[in-house]
Amino acid sequence: MVFVLDKNKKPLYPCHPAKARKLLKQGRAVIHKKYPFTIRLRDTVSDEEDEQEYRLKIDYGSKTTGLAILQRNKVIWLAELHHKINIKDNLDARRGFRRRRRNANLRYRKPRFNNRRRKEGWLPPSLRSRVDNIRNWVNKLKQLIPLTHISYENVKFDIQLMRNPEISGVEYQQGQLQGYEVREYLLEKYDRKCVYCGKKNIPLEIEHIIPKSRGGTNRIDNLTISCHDCNQKKGNLTAEEFGYPNIQKQAKQTLKDAAAVNSTRWAVYNVLLQSELDVECGTGARTKMQRINLGLPKEHYYDAICVGESTPEKLYFKTNEVLEIKAIGRGSHCRTKTDAYGFPRLYMPRQKYFFGFMTGDMIKAIVTKGKKQGVYYGTVACRSTGSFNIKTSNGIMQGISYKYCKVVQRLDGYNYHIKKVV
Ligand SMILES: [Zn+2]
Repeated sequence: MVFVLDKNKKPLYPCHPAKARKLLKQGRAVIHKKYPFTIRLRDTVSDEEDEQEYRLKIDYGSKTTGLAILQRNKVIWLAELHHKINIKDNLDARRGFRRRRRNANLRYRKPRFNNRRRKEGWLPPSLRSRVDNIRNWVNKLKQLIPLTHISYENVKFDIQLMRNPEISGVEYQQGQLQGYEVREYLLEKYDRKCVYCGKKNIPLEIEHIIPKSRGGTNRIDNLTISCHDCNQKKGNLTAEEFGYPNIQKQAKQTLKDAAAVNSTRWAVYNVLLQSELDVECGTGARTKMQRINLGLPKEHYYDAICVGESTPEKLYFKTNEVLEIKAIGRGSHCRTKTDAYGFPRLYMPRQKYFFGFMTGDMIKAIVTKGKKQGVYYGTVACRSTGSFNIKTSNGIMQGISYKYCKVVQRLDGYNYHIKKVV
């Protein structure tokens, strides 16, 4: 589906690509944005309110966040947002370089007064960046499609509901959701490994510490996780008899509430509340259950579809594309590039624009003559000489003159790539 804006850039109902092509061909619309593909009508001004429900679903992850837009049971847009991952390493390296310079060039200096107070709501830069990425995309999408709802997974499992099964709804009593919640809880509590042999990354089973045959209950403090082999070997023994008395003790302790929620998820949730859309929350366990029920593979964008209670039981895919979005930033403030030891290697120019282009812009270059004849499409690295490098999907093309280049999309802090799915 293609996003559509009216003459005044008000978001309208998204249309089929064929209709968008027709409108563009007739000259009734212009391309507003290449990624995500959006057209703007030249003649229409819409004043009616769209009554439809458009739901943005977010599956937050530390490296990759899945995004999906659903209109009732139609999936109209999918994306994968890759966060920056090297922020902490870069800051640590910079701190090391500065420390060296101070020690090398200065006499002893008394420590300064401790005046570095962190503001309330401070998050480490690497987490801040992810939260900002999501805030950014919610705002971007609000401008392209009339979003009304958001679904977001803010906890891994529902600790409240697990403790008091009485307050739960029908679904809990049916047991399937509870099974998933219990499993996620146990995986978190026992660090996703077999409690007996400590093996990781293998299928784990829910295991009764005091076996059912000897009066053990299904209560959460009688359950743990183990691999199939250990489960079989343990058989009719209690954990203590099997040689693990500490497991029985550990099971009695309840997991702290904090384990289900982490600070970033919470910060993202607060950002979503600021968007003034209707925010629905779900648990990770529910997402997993719904994804398996719908028979979807484990991908971030499919997980996003399955977040929250509102997920329909049958889906209609109106798209077979996933937009891969990579957070790359807008270049560095620092004008000196250093080598691996923190010594100056080269100096960057003061200005960012050269011949109307900036490093990171997506461009199309049609080279009409010479050895490099051809069409190149990718991100540009600008040089003050006017001889640019273009990073295409087949590698870097060096020495393309700015005269052949045309901007497709300006750098907005993200890199885009379209992936087809079946
Ligand atoms: Zn085991």
